[in-house]
Amino acid sequence: MLQDQAFLRIPGPTPIPPSVQHAMTQPMIGHRGREAKELIQKLRPRLKPVFGTEQEIMIVAGSGTAGLEAAVVNSAKPGDEVLVIATGAFGHRFKKICNSYDYQTHVIEVSWGSAADPAEIEEYLRQHPNIKVVFSTFCETSTGVLNPVRQIGEIVHRTSNALFVVDGVSCIGGVESKMDDWGIDVLVTGSQKAMMLPAGLTLIAVSERALRTMKENPQPRFYLDLTTYHDKLLADSTPFTPALSLLFGLNQVLNLMEEEGIDNVVKRHETMKSMTRAACRALGLPLLTLDQDASPTVTAIQPDDFDPEKLRSILKTEFGLSIAGGQQHLKGKIFRIGHMGYSSPADVLQTISLLELGLYKTGKQIELGKGVAAAQTVYTEHENRRN
Ligand SMILES: *Cc1c(COP(=O)(O)O)cnc(C)c1O
Repeated sequence: MLQDQAFLRIPGPTPIPPSVQHAMTQPMIGHRGREAKELIQKLRPRLKPVFGTEQEIMIVAGSGTAGLEAAVVNSAKPGDEVLVIATGAFGHRFKKICNSYDYQTHVIEVSWGSAADPAEIEEYLRQHPNIKVVFSTFCETSTGVLNPVRQIGEIVHRTSNALFVVDGVSCIGGVESKMDDWGIDVLVTGSQKAMMLPAGLTLIAVSERALRTMKENPQPRFYLDLTTYHDKLLADSTPFTPALSLLFGLNQVLNLMEEEGIDNVVKRHETMKSMTRAACRALGLPLLTLDQDASPTVTAIQPDDFDPEKLRSILKTEFGLSIAGGQQHLKGKIFRIGHMGYSSPADVLQTISLLELGLYKTGKQIELGKGVAAAQTVYTEHENRRN
């Protein structure tokens, strides 16, 4: 194996496009000077189509979890009843953040591998009319589920006055997002998943309604006070030193997305999802999620006749291919393939091809090439549909 060759197919961090890597090597600039101001001014409007909003998107230095914590402490007032819809490990992270503060946290637990049920949420909100904020994950990275945030948003606004806060860390930049139309009040993402950057930035879009709540919110916070980020952003600035190298990179990421077209970015992810799922079916690999619940950015497989950790180890040592294992109670039970950001159908074909060799070496009875052929067939079908 070539020592410097590595194929990163985990659901974040994801590979960085060479032009983005290059953009991040630009010499440092002063963060209060004209160049920094012009950079932020250039980024602001171009992030909006990625989120599907006309609102401002706050740029905060920190990992995705900083964005989740910012969403919590700015949206919920001390003592508020809040509802967390937990479909996996990242739903639980929202719960843990809420439990770290003075909130009365309700949780709807959904079995791992399934999507949230909008009808159940509606019923819960009717029975608990004092809930002030509803938190949901968009793509639940631990299971590969894409939650129906559009339907949930509609229900939250129809049955309550609660704010609707969504963790889109592992899908924004790879899936359709219509934040304003879908009634999402706060939408968070991180830099290291579908946004094709290293970790270190969190991007947080806030509705007008949520901003009003934030301005009146007495909840103590300092670094993560989004109202100060909002005030500064209107002047093309940030309250603290921005992660400038990541902003150079973000500018190039937006160039790439604009060149491809956001709609085509979304279609590419749909194609990669369908290719991966078809290949798994052809190889007799049980998928953790139903087709209608599956995320375009990550696919989870729950094998019943081999150890996924053994497969992962073979793929890593023989080919330099990294795929992810399971989290929490799914550790050792599933494996997950990331197909988001700087990832194309060509990468999926390579991943499936190596996966077949790994399965073969694990001792699983498969016909080599069957998964690749199924993925190729899906690719041609998607191409035909587009033309
Ligand atoms: C990766 C991820 C996060 C953020 O994780 P960090 O390690 O803090 O960047 C949050 N939510 C989801 C759904 C994720 O996939």
